[in-house]
Amino acid sequence: MAFDSLAVHAGQSADPGTGAVIPPVHFSTTYVQDGIGNLRAGYEYGRSGNPTRTALEEQVAALEGGRHGVSFASGLAAEDALLRAALRPGDEVLLGNDVYGGTYRLLSRILGPWGVSLRVVDMSDLEAVAAAIAVRAPQILWVETPSNPLLRVTDIAGLARLGHEAGALVVVDNTFASPALQRPLAHGADVVVHSTTKYLGGHSDVVGGALVLNDDALAEQVRFLQFAAGAVSGPMDAWLTSRGIKTLGLRMQRHSENALALARFLHEDDRVDRVYYPGLPTHPGHDIAAAQMSAFGGIVSVALADAASARRFAESTRLFQLAESLGGVESLVNHPDEMTHASVRGTELAVPAEVVRLSVGIESLDDLRADLDQALSAR
Ligand SMILES: *Cc1c(COP(=O)(O)O)cnc(C)c1O
Repeated sequence: MAFDSLAVHAGQSADPGTGAVIPPVHFSTTYVQDGIGNLRAGYEYGRSGNPTRTALEEQVAALEGGRHGVSFASGLAAEDALLRAALRPGDEVLLGNDVYGGTYRLLSRILGPWGVSLRVVDMSDLEAVAAAIAVRAPQILWVETPSNPLLRVTDIAGLARLGHEAGALVVVDNTFASPALQRPLAHGADVVVHSTTKYLGGHSDVVGGALVLNDDALAEQVRFLQFAAGAVSGPMDAWLTSRGIKTLGLRMQRHSENALALARFLHEDDRVDRVYYPGLPTHPGHDIAAAQMSAFGGIVSVALADAASARRFAESTRLFQLAESLGGVESLVNHPDEMTHASVRGTELAVPAEVVRLSVGIESLDDLRADLDQALSAR
């Protein structure tokens, strides 16, 4: 089946007992055994497995074109499980220089004290990556493309080649593009990470995370951590995420159309210094994005004249609501330096204070454009 059919049907068969087209949410924490250890469908206890969670895991794996999907209570819980499954004390992660601030915090402040070291590089510059690998081969290359919030684009196939020559695991955080627009495993990545809180859930009403990978041994280790450390997604969260995913293709199409139109509008506007959007031909990663993505996504960042102008703009929109997070049907505006990226202020990952990030929703384009126009004129 093709993508939009998988989004609706993968993992989602009708309930055999009642014929309910939408499978029920399984809240039960425990399962009857027909004799000791004789399980009816492999389910025993809610932390080790739950049918609603299994449905989500099958759906996400199908959409990313991977063998194994593993779902977690948050994107960071998914990242934590992967890092602990793949790394040992003394290992190193080579990290993109504008990854999600929470990823940097997890590595530097949680895994760092356990003996995992960290180096940061501009992943969109493959020569810089090769030079960093030549100094020391890392165990993991970790990239976001497009990245947050500067929308840097990395050639996933090129990065995967470099990583694999060095024996590293190549991890792509695909939260921004979603599998509707980009499938990193097909370009050679080893593991895809998602904050399903964003586009997969899509409605800003559920926190979650997922990993998709093909390697059986690593998947088994990740599943063991999911079970043994316990950061599982709850049944209602899994169900809400599955429901959101059914419309992912439609939503990403509309997010991308709106974002491209607004990026063009902002690019033409003298009140804006710079627009960061991979769909603009002036974007340095445009050609790579056009080759590895089917559309350019819903995130647009802008640089204004200075930090004060950026703050004023972010506080003057009306339809774009001032809030952290992204990827929901509603449009949001965020001042990264003081909001989402406050935890990386003063580090190598700091975001310039004149940058504002827009998560462009699926509202009517004219309303969104009018809102940005009035906010740019605010005094
Ligand atoms: C939000 C986000 C995360 C973290 O996910 P949570 O669900 O908030 O734990 C990781 N990566 C990216 C790109 C994100 O936007």
